Amino acid sequence: MNNIEKGEMLYEGKAKKVYRTNDRDKFIVEYKDDATAFNGEKKGTISNKGIVNNKMSAVIFQLLQDMEIENHYIEVLSDREMLVKSVEILPVEVIVRNIAAGSMAKRLGLQEGRKMKTPILEFCYKSDELGDPLINEYHIEALEWATKEEIKTIKDYTFRINEILSVYFLEKNLTLVDFKLEFGLHNGRVILADEVSPDTCRLWDATTGEKLDKDRFRRDLGNVEESYQEVLRRIKG
Ligand code: UDP
Repeated sequence: MNNIEKGEMLYEGKAKKVYRTNDRDKFIVEYKDDATAFNGEKKGTISNKGIVNNKMSAVIFQLLQDMEIENHYIEVLSDREMLVKSVEILPVEVIVRNIAAGSMAKRLGLQEGRKMKTPILEFCYKSDELGDPLINEYHIEALEWATKEEIKTIKDYTFRINEILSVYFLEKNLTLVDFKLEFGLHNGRVILADEVSPDTCRLWDATTGEKLDKDRFRRDLGNVEESYQEVLRRIKG
């Protein structure tokens, strides 16, 4: 519709490929079925995951845009491809936790499922070689991964996103346990990028507590593909 042509591949990650286009302000993100866990130690595929993650991310990014959370999403191009604004990803992963699970439960010896009084925000340095180590705001500022102002924008956005998405998912009978966000710079502004999917969010059925996210793959719980489809079905429904 806007004569976008896919150019050279810029980057291939564990779950996505990013391509340049004939418009220097726009990239194409292609979602793969490849799945990895435990810092790449466990590898596999989840059939049709790329399609679910593309569609779900599109819905969530649109919802966030409607709530004035600037993000890279422009439009869906195909089952596995979306057109996004070109961004330079900041080397920081932002994790929000509403309920103890995963690495935080392990690190602090907490029972998985323990509800916290307030949401917890964590930062990790995005480095596969180092296993995404936990850092804090001082590391980010001192090592110039983002400025103080950019960190403030990221924190403001992140807490708002958590409020919006917690309510949104609960309407779909899903509990948003924790999730990871990545931000990037577009024309010098910080905007939300990457994806929001069962790969990057822990989502539990709000009634039964059943896990409907990548933990089914990480922990060999079975029904992995079905769980991704179920999340998409609830979001579309
Ligand atoms: N997460 C992610 N990518 C990462 C690390 C974490 O998307 O590289 C997400 C993960 O799916 C979960 C949340 O961030 O929703 C918190 O993950 P945690 O630190 O517990 O790590 P994990 O259990 O994945 O090792």
